[in-house]
Amino acid sequence: MSDVSAGQRIYDLCGRIFPICRSITGDGVRETLKLLDEYIADTDYRLNIMEIPTGTQVYDWTIPKEWVIRDAYIEDESGHHIIDFRDNNLHVLGYSAPMDQWMDLSEMGGFIYTQPDQPVLIPYVTSYYEERSGFCMSENQKQSLKPGRYHLYVDSELKEGSLTCADLVIKGELDKEVLITTYICHPSMANDICSGMALLAELIRYVASLPTRRYTYRFVFEPETIGSIAYISGHYDVLRKNVTAAFNLSCVGDDRAYSIIESPYADTCSDRILKNVLSGRENTRIYPFLNRGSDERQYASAGVDLPMVCFCRSKFGMFPEYHTSADNMSLVNPAGFQGSFDVMTAVIQVLEHNGKYRSRVLCEPQLGKRGLYSTISRKGIYDGVLVYRDFMAYADGENDLIAISEHLNKSAYELLVPMEKLMDCGLIEMVE
Ligand code: ZN
Repeated sequence: MSDVSAGQRIYDLCGRIFPICRSITGDGVRETLKLLDEYIADTDYRLNIMEIPTGTQVYDWTIPKEWVIRDAYIEDESGHHIIDFRDNNLHVLGYSAPMDQWMDLSEMGGFIYTQPDQPVLIPYVTSYYEERSGFCMSENQKQSLKPGRYHLYVDSELKEGSLTCADLVIKGELDKEVLITTYICHPSMANDICSGMALLAELIRYVASLPTRRYTYRFVFEPETIGSIAYISGHYDVLRKNVTAAFNLSCVGDDRAYSIIESPYADTCSDRILKNVLSGRENTRIYPFLNRGSDERQYASAGVDLPMVCFCRSKFGMFPEYHTSADNMSLVNPAGFQGSFDVMTAVIQVLEHNGKYRSRVLCEPQLGKRGLYSTISRKGIYDGVLVYRDFMAYADGENDLIAISEHLNKSAYELLVPMEKLMDCGLIEMVE
């Protein structure tokens, strides 16, 4: 695997899970998690799969019935399937109740969902908490249907079952945790959110491969909203006690922008680190918590108060392909995934080294005798070593790496190498 870039590997994994029909419950989710588990099989870790039974109360919500979908199509009088779930799983309304009915074209309106302002695309529509039957198609196709009778057929089941989530914890030296989550409940859409699942699986491999870890890492795959609420309700105490930084991944496979959705007060360690890593990248967008929409809604809600931000390339809801059939594998690419992987691994490296630094000498240290400064004084040479002196000037025991980076107007990631050299020379120490 090592001769292929991380971006390409994540892209390939995204392509493997893309065709599976997922929803907030059901075998599509289980099949997806099995593939993700196989992907991390070369580490010492396995996904811990949790099944939460239908009817379980999780805070203000109840785990719904499990959706089983076997087949869905609309056929005309000649037996031709004008749409078929097997061609594109967006064609069936998510959580559609079963139906088997012939009707006239004029009666079909209430069962057909389209996106009139994007007339060539199939929209992604669900009806999770109210029982309905239905289909999705392009507006153009709907307009082209000829008068006559049609057979609307959904072979599905809503049964007592369970909701599936998975987590994986990789222990570090500290009990303090870094939480990284993504959601798993959408059918065949690539950026939203096959991309997040694929990136999270690769990040597990990355964290597992680190020779040392200060933090413990908790990775969570869950159906959006109900899954995160269920996960929080089952892990509230440990999350509240240990989570130091938290990131939700959403829409991380395109290459058009880098986006952060801030925590409610934009003041957590996660806000500072992700913004710091994104600084200097092109097309960076900062959205306030009021623009939230994914599981940061739950993890950062009042009383849960985990320091979570959301990381996206193009933010959900802001790109034209969002929640349509155009969110397919042509929207994501290896370069987009590589950018996201680079951001998240930089976040992890900065986090691992973020702490307050203190100089161990008074006044300027003599860098030359430690090999950090040329012993020949000549115009221009000073520039290259300025970073050591600047770092030392702000290493007062109060500034952490992020604060020092802000004072130096350099990214914290850029400072990792000079910081490690200063540590190796014994000129600075981490005080907390
Ligand atoms: Zn979505």
